[in-house]
Amino acid sequence: MSTNSLSFEFDNSYARLPENFFCRLRPTPVHFPKLIRINKNLAMELKIDPDLLSSEEGVKILAGNKIPTGADPLAMAYAGHQFGNWVPQLGDGRAILLGELIDINGIRRDLQLKGCGITPFSRMGDGRAAVGPIIREFMVSEAMNALNIDSTRSLAAISTGNFVVRENIHPGAILTRVAKSHVRVGTFQFFASRGDIPALQSLADYVISRLYPIAKKSENPYLSLLNLVIEKQARLIAKWQLIGFIHGVMNTDNMSISGETIDFGPCAFMDFFHPDTVYSSIDELGRYAYKNQPYIAQWNLACFAETLLPLISSNEEKATKLAQESVNSFTDLFDAEYLAHFRKKLGLFEEDKDDLNLGTALLECMQQNKTDFTLTFRYLSCLKRKRTEYDTVLHQLFENKSSLDVWLARWRKRLDLEQVSDSRRIKAMQSVNPAFIPRNHMIETIIESAIDNGDFTLFNNFLCIMETPYNDQLAHDRFFQPPRPDEIIKATFCGT
Ligand code: AMP
Ligand code: MG
Repeated sequence: MSTNSLSFEFDNSYARLPENFFCRLRPTPVHFPKLIRINKNLAMELKIDPDLLSSEEGVKILAGNKIPTGADPLAMAYAGHQFGNWVPQLGDGRAILLGELIDINGIRRDLQLKGCGITPFSRMGDGRAAVGPIIREFMVSEAMNALNIDSTRSLAAISTGNFVVRENIHPGAILTRVAKSHVRVGTFQFFASRGDIPALQSLADYVISRLYPIAKKSENPYLSLLNLVIEKQARLIAKWQLIGFIHGVMNTDNMSISGETIDFGPCAFMDFFHPDTVYSSIDELGRYAYKNQPYIAQWNLACFAETLLPLISSNEEKATKLAQESVNSFTDLFDAEYLAHFRKKLGLFEEDKDDLNLGTALLECMQQNKTDFTLTFRYLSCLKRKRTEYDTVLHQLFENKSSLDVWLARWRKRLDLEQVSDSRRIKAMQSVNPAFIPRNHMIETIIESAIDNGDFTLFNNFLCIMETPYNDQLAHDRFFQPPRPDEIIKATFCGT
């Protein structure tokens, strides 16, 4: 690592793709950039000196006011289905890819500035982002990563010194987003819908080389690509469901081919469990409600599959049949991932045919009692085989105690089928049932404090707590507890 001057070892593979994949341009400089936060660990992962990145020169780069040597800034083209409606051209309307870095693990990562000015894809937008949504994305994406859920990452946030006009006037900000790739289902749709088969093939080959090289060995690499993406998404969405995460805008342009959770707009973690929960203020029909996420994922994957048809086989009928089988396989893959992960949450090491029913029965009991999703599983993780005072703590969450007792008796009977010590099981359960999640009301409080008072103390505290979400941190009860009735957030706004 360089000790005296800020340098990036860029190697920009996307910029070497054909010209119609993107538009080369520079970010629009901002008035008075100021650092909000650097993610030091991530900087080091990317072989960037965090202190230099925090310097005046570093902040200029993070603001788009200076282009670092080796960068090849561009806005990516893509299309997509938004709330089920086809939009032939979207693209990076307020984000610019600076370039790619190979991290310490040899993985190629995109470095993108989000909120850095208009591009030819901005349509009516101003190319900017407000500080609220930027620090929201910072917090949620970093939390997702700490919760072991694949996600884009946040390297830095800066305030711009400019204002952006939304419903109100807000201070502007820019996020430096890091991704294994920003290629989306919508990127494939962009070329497929234009009937540009050579471009489609270049894109598919690019993605295979970068993200799924194993597909090259397959008899049909493009079908293999489809299957690998389907597997990745099945695993991802199963994890979302079992941590109570609601993405909020699962449009095809917001589904990443790398399998990372991307675009944290009106997303939220559920407090009180209910499968109909939807937070996004723009999702009036509940298309992207919690319970619909697996179906929507499959719908998006069907869109992806459709784009690949001409590559899978020149025989249309054959291609359709193969792709259809792959898309259908999502259901079994998702169910298997979901059940395997649910077993872990329940402290089950072996398989029993009744395990899914056992898990579902707990969710039903939680729904009837409106219990907090995260606390229920966390408190359950503390219970011993025999009843102890820890049962009382879990009991307090449930109004109907007898329904919980019926379930607990069933669960304990199931535990008795296995020879696993309490201490081993409790440790395992606590490593998958977090104590801390980004609670929506806390996120709102943190944002308010940052905007109204320019005070980022809570923001920084939160990020520190979320580094170890599976540890009890008794001093941080405020971040642990669900919202009081007057603190409940019913809707979140994407604020674009
Ligand atoms: P999103 O809802 O963030 O996934 O964005 C959907 C599309 O709108 C993408 O093409 C974005 O680049 C574009 N977009 C969102 N906000 C803005 C903005 N403020 N200015 C320009 N384009 C935007
Ligand atoms: Mg998006």
